[in-house]
Amino acid sequence: MRTEPDRLTQTAGHAVAAAIRSINTNGLSDPAITPALEAALTLSELAMRCGATADDIRRAGGLPASAPDRTQAEPTPGTAHRCPAAHPDDPSPCDGPPVVTVLDRNNAGADGCEHHAARLLASLEGGRVYGLPHATDGAAIRVFKAADGIRPFCWLTGAPRTEPSQLSHRENRVA
Ligand SMILES: [Zn+2]
Repeated sequence: MRTEPDRLTQTAGHAVAAAIRSINTNGLSDPAITPALEAALTLSELAMRCGATADDIRRAGGLPASAPDRTQAEPTPGTAHRCPAAHPDDPSPCDGPPVVTVLDRNNAGADGCEHHAARLLASLEGGRVYGLPHATDGAAIRVFKAADGIRPFCWLTGAPRTEPSQLSHRENRVA
């Protein structure tokens, strides 16, 4: 017989898996991401209050327990615990602790190290960056300036780079 916490764990697992799939498919700027993430977080919190562990929830959603969410590409060493701004397809490691928050046009946000925050910001249209309270002065400015010279989704090295939307802001100003 299935108990209430079991059902909660399963629902939370499915919500988490759906949110991750959605981010991997549509990116963080999709307006549907925020409600999907909020639902996943709320359900996970409820399930954990009923005694479920994070691994229980992951397994219920068909995700590997205590493993990175990436389904493609073996993670390179050192990338297992990266900041939330790191794109799953971007294999590069963090350059430090999260110091800024990057918000997209719909105010969906992710905290990130300077390296990944700049890459994320460069990939968003109408994105913004703010320093976290503990960050040193200038972190947000450094990320903003770095993002200016980074191409959107720069880790996709085989992608065509001809349209303005595929080039960095700096390149578009020169062209
Ligand atoms: Zn990072």
